[in-house]
Amino acid sequence: MDDVVIVGGSFAGLTAAMHLVRARRRVTILDTDLPRNRYAEGAHNVLGFDGAPPAAIRAAGLANVLAYPTARHVVAEAVGIGGVADDFVIRTLDGGLFPARRLILSYGVADQFPAIPGFAECWGKTVVHCPYCHGYEIADRPLGLLYSSPASLHVTALLRDWTDNLTLFSNGLDLPDGEVARLEASGVAVLEGGVAEIVHSGGQMTGVRMADGREIALGGMFAHPKVKPSARLHEDIGIVTEESVLGPYIRVNDEFETSVRGIFAAGDLAGPRHSVNGAIQGGSLAAVGAHRSLLGFT
Ligand SMILES: Cc1cc2nc3c(=O)[nH]c(=O)nc-3n(C[C@H](O)[C@H](O)[C@H](O)COP(=O)(O)OP(=O)(O)OC[C@H]3O[C@@H](n4cnc5c(N)ncnc54)[C@H](O)[C@@H]3O)c2cc1C
Repeated sequence: MDDVVIVGGSFAGLTAAMHLVRARRRVTILDTDLPRNRYAEGAHNVLGFDGAPPAAIRAAGLANVLAYPTARHVVAEAVGIGGVADDFVIRTLDGGLFPARRLILSYGVADQFPAIPGFAECWGKTVVHCPYCHGYEIADRPLGLLYSSPASLHVTALLRDWTDNLTLFSNGLDLPDGEVARLEASGVAVLEGGVAEIVHSGGQMTGVRMADGREIALGGMFAHPKVKPSARLHEDIGIVTEESVLGPYIRVNDEFETSVRGIFAAGDLAGPRHSVNGAIQGGSLAAVGAHRSLLGFT
């Protein structure tokens, strides 16, 4: 039996694995190789790897982990979860069974793209969610912000450092009272009405076509699609979740333990703020939490 099985072997999961194998614990990482930022050519704000392809960063991390003799990496989709602390079991789609004393869930979230033609093709290239991650690459162009909830409005002031030509697209949703006037007074153009298509060539957007046929030239757009957890193991075993404007996430305590004793969670799955660095930090803290739990400290 493993000390810990980690479900999801990306930034959070591999970081957790690193801590635990260095504590000489037996760890299996289950992974389907579909990290959330796989659409982007490069990841940013990751020290030592700025602009490197996400797959290259993960490959380097996996090689680090597998250098330790108690690490095992299995490419498999976890579909079943059962048991209690000291006697958990994860079942994979291909029928594998992986018993473990503790579990760390780090299977991330999946973005739910709006049904706008061109959105998926531009995602991570010129349609981006985070200005710190990808704003530099599209700076100084006419940019859009696709409104999805009042949370979108908080970003408009921030985006000034990347463009002075910003248009908010309401995409057919009602903006809160007084917002149109406030935005326009602050130099942000507002276009109400639906967005019919993102016009692009190979993911490089050149504009949007509105439902009424107008075409607006743009060099990029910020958008914040809803997310949902990439698997439902946490639901199946009754782990408590919280709701953010983007979607559900697992609630964890200071030890990064979930509401089910012995199951820890980290990364995008375990909080409303999403970044590689946040996932790395969460993976680190969840590993320490799981280790302390194995030692009976908690
Ligand atoms: C387009 C885009 C670009 C981004 N760019 C940046 C950036 O430049 N800088 C930055 O800091 N952040 C960036 N982010 C955010 C960043 O990608 C996430 O915060 C980060 O990937 C979260 O890491 P994680 O380990 O929690 O989850 P993920 O990296 O999403 O990894 C989850 C892993 O779990 C696996 N998995 C899922 N389900 C199962 C299952 N049932 N069984 C086994 N394995 C499973 C997946 O295959 C995947 O490998 C970007 C996000 C997007 C959408």
